[in-house]
Amino acid sequence: MSLLFKKLGLSEQLVQTVAERGYREPTDVQVRAIPPLLAGRDVLATAQTGTGKTAAFLLPVLDRLQAGAIARAPRSAGRIARPSVLVLAPTRELAVQIAEQAHVYNDNRSMRCAVVYGGASKGGQLQQLSRGPDILIATPGRLVDFIGEGVIALGNVACLILDEADRMLDMGFIHEVRRIAALVRAKRQTALFSATMPREIETLARELLVDAVRVAAARAERAVGTIAQEVLHVAQADKTALLASIIDERGVFKAIVFTRTKHKAARLAKQLARQGIAADSIHGDRTQNQRTRALAGFHSGKLQILVATDVASRGIDVDDVSHVINYDLPNEAEVYVHRIGRTGRAGADGVAISFCDSGELAYLRAIEQLQKTRIGVTRDHAFHVEPATAVVANRPLAGPKRLRPRAERAPAPRESPKRPRGQRKTRHRSRGTTGVA
Ligand code: AMP
Repeated sequence: MSLLFKKLGLSEQLVQTVAERGYREPTDVQVRAIPPLLAGRDVLATAQTGTGKTAAFLLPVLDRLQAGAIARAPRSAGRIARPSVLVLAPTRELAVQIAEQAHVYNDNRSMRCAVVYGGASKGGQLQQLSRGPDILIATPGRLVDFIGEGVIALGNVACLILDEADRMLDMGFIHEVRRIAALVRAKRQTALFSATMPREIETLARELLVDAVRVAAARAERAVGTIAQEVLHVAQADKTALLASIIDERGVFKAIVFTRTKHKAARLAKQLARQGIAADSIHGDRTQNQRTRALAGFHSGKLQILVATDVASRGIDVDDVSHVINYDLPNEAEVYVHRIGRTGRAGADGVAISFCDSGELAYLRAIEQLQKTRIGVTRDHAFHVEPATAVVANRPLAGPKRLRPRAERAPAPRESPKRPRGQRKTRHRSRGTTGVA
């Protein structure tokens, strides 16, 4: 049992739960945010996905509900759900992930949770609401809908949590957030978590929080210490072939591949799927159903590769991501840090591989400047081009690396026929292929 979690003031039972979950010690944001939240204080936290922020607010909430410090919803509430705790999240994916974690930490099922979000039918959500949840996790639009329909009332909310507030701002939810907060009584506990603190979020925090404790989780630059980073110089036209060869040769089994555009994400997932690699994509043009299916497949291990754009990947929380591959480098260095934070989560090891063509060299330098360190270059691959000559795109590259036959690197018996892509040596390949709908 972790003494460190106990020291934060959490109940024996919750300490036991996190120990069973395999958490050896609290993360930085948990150490800083849990004690003030347990004490009923407001908290303004700068913390990104992957820092353990969800547990940082869920554990104290559960503790206070169980201890009676937050009054639970009356059971005789009738048909209107009157939650005691409201967690607002910008996206359906994040809302579902928070609900999943709540389910895990609430393992004795003493509290009732419900999750509501847009882009899905209301039936199942209404059913959850009819059970009278203590904790409601919601995206702003759907919550406003349900309030309008008289299905949810916020008068009982004693604790309001805003997660990924900066994304709510980006996604244009800030008016809804203000409307919702106005429906919650003034005498409440409020916590606001945000990856970044732009001026608008500071303003919102001043409006909604009272005498808040400020918490800044370890910056992402430091949090990524356990991730092995490497860069591969390659011409744009060779990136897909390089990706396929890396997946094959390194036995990549659970990777997120980032592209800059939706079209590229869709096309790349199709190309990989055609080669027998279990890949799918999430991006802005996909329906909620398609995204949910792709994420579920990735979660369960049925999918080996998830191709994503930055916007679509927000808030994805998948354990054991072995590799993050930047098919395209982002033009903002901070985005790179967010991306690679998806692997090597909460202390685990991870690998971040970046493809860099001549047009992306400036992005690479900016990333290195932000991290104050050079990223090691891997030259030992068939498509390597020295950065100065990486200008070549859409035409075959000459040079020894490119021309060196595969057999030279990994000798194989001459007579062995080329294995069809569908029946490859990697275990995960045989789990099936999901193309892009
Ligand atoms: P989050 O930042 O909330 O998205 O959490 C990222 C991941 O870290 C989740 O998969 C959690 O299950 C995991 N996690 C949270 N707290 C801890 C901890 N103290 N030790 C190890 N893993 C943790």
